[in-house]
Amino acid sequence: MPVGYGKKIRQAVTEAKKKSAKKYKCPSCSRTAMKRVANGVWQCRKCSSKFASGAFEFSG
Ligand SMILES: [Zn+2]
Repeated sequence: MPVGYGKKIRQAVTEAKKKSAKKYKCPSCSRTAMKRVANGVWQCRKCSSKFASGAFEFSG
């Protein structure tokens, strides 16, 4: 395995985790309460609406 390969992967994973930890605006109630509950599944903590979106990033 080339030197530095593992490091690059770790950075990508860190970035993805940062994005998944970010709060996103709910398309249903417009409150910033979207939480990633599973891979590609996001749920609003205010109105409990569930949305399918990116695995680590909500866009909707
Ligand atoms: Zn909501």
